[in-house]
Order: sequence, then structure tokens, then C-alpha cells
Amino acid sequence: MLILIQEETGLEFMYNEKLRVHSNVVTEATKNALKRRGVTLEDIAKIVYEMQVPYNKGLRMDHCVESVESVLKKREMQHAILVGVELDELAEKNMLSEPLQQIVLADEGLFGVDETIALGAVFTYGSIAVTTFGHLDKNKIGIINELDTQPGIGKINTFLDDLVASVAACAASRLAHRTRDLEEAGETFEDLPPEETAPETKIDGAK
Ligand code: MG
Repeated sequence: MLILIQEETGLEFMYNEKLRVHSNVVTEATKNALKRRGVTLEDIAKIVYEMQVPYNKGLRMDHCVESVESVLKKREMQHAILVGVELDELAEKNMLSEPLQQIVLADEGLFGVDETIALGAVFTYGSIAVTTFGHLDKNKIGIINELDTQPGIGKINTFLDDLVASVAACAASRLAHRTRDLEEAGETFEDLPPEETAPETKIDGAK
């Protein structure tokens, strides 16, 4: 393991011998990016809860938070969040080149790259995640709506609203798949402790 220190910021970065960034570093950076932009895991979990509770007896917020956390461990999602948040932040600092700066600032309807990056990250979770993302893109629920309606106060969330919708769609899809497993076992979420909603953690080699 190599530790490189960035001269300008003094930040330490961990790499392995092939100069690949360690997973823990990417996970941490992803969570920090959301936090920096004022989005908590609970904000996203609330959207998941609202969408899934009608279909899931015994579903609790803890299950939804656990599901959001699992989604945030996926590189596919982490990379999308890092790219999107970086672009929002650069645009806020007026650091993009024109005309991209103006396009991102204005959140132009025809831009679509924000939706495309966010959509790309949902494919891991299958067709339910894709259709749920479409639903959230259209009917902005909770924090997504707040992020979408903050223009003109120096905040640029052109990418962030779509990324939050993407995480929520994936987390909801995970739960929907789990619902079927529970039904087949004659159980509901009432029988399932939140920490057991993460099948990824039960796979050999995964943490
Ligand atoms: Mg957007």
C-alpha cells in the first residue's frame, strides 16, 4: 500500500501497487460528497420508505437506510456521484469553460448528461431500478424536489438531484427484490432485522 500526499491540500491518498485507489477511500469520498452538498442518507432513505412502504408490511426506516448504504458501496454509484458532484461544485465556483458553465448553471432542459450519468448507475439493480428512476425523475419526491428548486441562490444541483434519484431508485429496487424472497419464505420485513437486508454482505469476499 502506498500513501501519497497531495502537496496543495495535504490530503493523504491510499493506493495499492497498481496505483488503484482503495475502495474505502472511494466510499468515504462518496459519503463526504453527499454530506458536503447537504444530503443525508436519511433524506434518501425517506424517499425509499415512501415508495416501498405500501408494498411492504413491517418496513422501517432502518431497512431503507441500510439499503441506501449498500447502494453507496457500489463503485458504479460512487463514480457517478463523484463525477456529478464535482461538476456541480466546479460550476458553483464558475470554473467550467463556456458554454458548458452556462449550460450547467442554467440546468438546461436539453442537457440530459446529468440524467444519463445517474441512469447509468442504476443498471446494476435491474429493470425495477430503471423504471423507478424514471418515476423519480418525473415526480420529484422529498429532497429531490428541494434540490431541484434551489436555483438562483448560488447553489447548483444540476447533477445532484438526478444522483439522489438514482441512489433512491436502486435502494428501492433492492428492497423490492427482497420482498419477493420474503414472500416465498412466508415472511415480511417485520421478521427481518435491518442489517440482514444486505445480501451483498453475505457474499464471500465482500464486506
Ligand atoms: Mg438534473
